[in-house]
Amino acid sequence: MILDGKALSEKILEHLKNKIQELNIKAHLVVILVGNDPSSRIYVKNKKKAAERIGIKSTIIEMSSTVSENELLQKIDELNEDSNVTGILVQLPLPEHINKNKVVQAISPKKDVDGFTPENVGKLAIGLEPYFYPATPQGIIMLLDEYNIPLEGADALVIGRSNIVGRPMAQMLLKRNATVTMAHSYTKNLEDKIKTADIVISAVGKKVVRCKMVNRNSVVIDVGIFRDSSGKLTGDVDFDLVSPSVKYITPVPGGVGPMTIASLMYNASKVYH
Ligand code: NAP
Repeated sequence: MILDGKALSEKILEHLKNKIQELNIKAHLVVILVGNDPSSRIYVKNKKKAAERIGIKSTIIEMSSTVSENELLQKIDELNEDSNVTGILVQLPLPEHINKNKVVQAISPKKDVDGFTPENVGKLAIGLEPYFYPATPQGIIMLLDEYNIPLEGADALVIGRSNIVGRPMAQMLLKRNATVTMAHSYTKNLEDKIKTADIVISAVGKKVVRCKMVNRNSVVIDVGIFRDSSGKLTGDVDFDLVSPSVKYITPVPGGVGPMTIASLMYNASKVYH
């Protein structure tokens, strides 16, 4: 069965739109875009479109690729101080001369809708409630919950250990009492681990999930999105091979991607605060 991220994201966005109206929430998301990376430009545009759809004010601040680190940090300070701004997001990647960590650390944790600042990451790591959870893993948890997939006691395998997906994903699964294994490029016998897991979440950017699962009730979540040699958008999972052997699987596209946007909007709307 398909885990339909597109359908759930639509449902969440509609819910947020109604709540924002009902509670008269005044949220203002500011997205900083540095340079001319075409993919970043598309991501930023999509975020603005989603924000406007649900009734959140959104502003894109464009900065040239030659902007100095200090200028960028000053802009973030200004936004931190501005009480009309409720969310700040710096689109990554940044040009090489800018220290990404310094920039992320400059964002106020209370406005860090990406959940990337050390305070929010640290809170998650020690089992406290961060102001915001990172969008992609939070969206995945929402999707698993929507389909009532049990996490408690489940053997969950997270492939990939990036700060934006793999690591926070593992922490969030631990918080929900799953037994978590983390795999990365040094992991031995990955296929054996994939085959026997109850839940596989793959965030690599290469076709790494290419075997049938042993457990017919297993769940496979494909975070990866990249172009194959023919230029077609694809994910980490060999869908045709894997899908007959599992209970639930996400498609690419239409799975984790739309959930990431919905989850970011959930953060940006502060509906639950
Ligand atoms: P990333 O920073 O690109 O890192 C990739 C991770 O995969 C690393 O931890 C790396 O291990 C691991 N890896 C590489 N080759 C491997 C292999 N052969 N076996 C096992 N692990 C391997 O990760 P990311 O930023 O999380 O992105 C991963 C993918 O998810 C990309 O395709 C990205 O486009 C996609 N993505 C999608 C969404 C969405 O909303 N759909 C959101 C975010 C990312 P090492 O640490 O050892 O190098």
